Amino acid sequence: MTSVTVWNEYRHEREDEEVAEVYPEGIHEVIAGFLGDRGFETRTATLDDPEHGLTESVLDGTDVLTWWGHEAHDEVADEVVERVRERVLGGMGLVVLHSGHFSKIFKRLMGTTCDLKYRERGETERLWVVEPGHPIADGIDEYVEVPEAEMYGERFDVPAPETLVFTSWFEGGEVFRSGCCYRRGAGKVFYFRPGHETYPIYRQPEIQRVVGNAVEWAAPVDGPEPSFGRSDPPEGA
Ligand code: ZN
Repeated sequence: MTSVTVWNEYRHEREDEEVAEVYPEGIHEVIAGFLGDRGFETRTATLDDPEHGLTESVLDGTDVLTWWGHEAHDEVADEVVERVRERVLGGMGLVVLHSGHFSKIFKRLMGTTCDLKYRERGETERLWVVEPGHPIADGIDEYVEVPEAEMYGERFDVPAPETLVFTSWFEGGEVFRSGCCYRRGAGKVFYFRPGHETYPIYRQPEIQRVVGNAVEWAAPVDGPEPSFGRSDPPEGA
């Protein structure tokens, strides 16, 4: 069974009344709840846990890590970021959500600024599936509509995705690459845009479906352990 660790900064929900009304239990509990319903083994970890809840032993038992953060990216210890990065290179899946685009781990893995345009005005977002045969689009219609969203617009300063699964259109006119697949080492990384903290977006069934699909896609496979360095010919001397 795929084991998922759902990581959340968990500050807005405790500090901001408006957010607490939308996610009284914390975003991590909502995400862990619907992933658990889908059959994944889930646990949660938050910024204020010791080592941000991402100890070596937790990561040993993690196939896929999901990441939601926003206002406290800088408080994530570099040592933990490096630990997570090594795990991803070794095959652990990483699903980066919404404002996680500016997390240390995502920027580190992408190597670019990961900057973008934004505007908070409760605009409608339409996420068009542009790769219908992709496993992350499984069970999804031609598009998913989020009735009220924060706008993220291009340019999104990330490397060209290996596969782009969703492109978003916003009421105000912008577009955005909102479902981006990457591989780093043996690990798979998916960036998924929806999830601003003042709208109940993670309670929307289609969004839950995509996050679950992404976890399934990002789960490690039992591939060969690569060897490096000076090498004798496999065909014999
Ligand atoms: Zn946001």
